[in-house]
Amino acid sequence: MGAFRYVTNRTLADKEGNADAGRIKAFVKNGSDMLEGEYKCPGCGNEGMINQFFKRPISVKCENCGFLMKLPKLKGKK
Ligand SMILES: [Zn+2]
Repeated sequence: MGAFRYVTNRTLADKEGNADAGRIKAFVKNGSDMLEGEYKCPGCGNEGMINQFFKRPISVKCENCGFLMKLPKLKGKK
């Protein structure tokens, strides 16, 4: 019953395995097919906006360096 049908807020590892080198905060509003939000690229540190068609698995490309930030579906249990 919220305003969003999808929300994510995650840290992203870089190639060296630094677990919180980057971040993605994004959401999809109810009735929308657009993923909106912001990211910090773990590859180059660039901060940018996300505004793209929402499909799974989610991947967001850094506008600056082309690093592909992938968001695999989270598992329910560790
Ligand atoms: Zn980048």
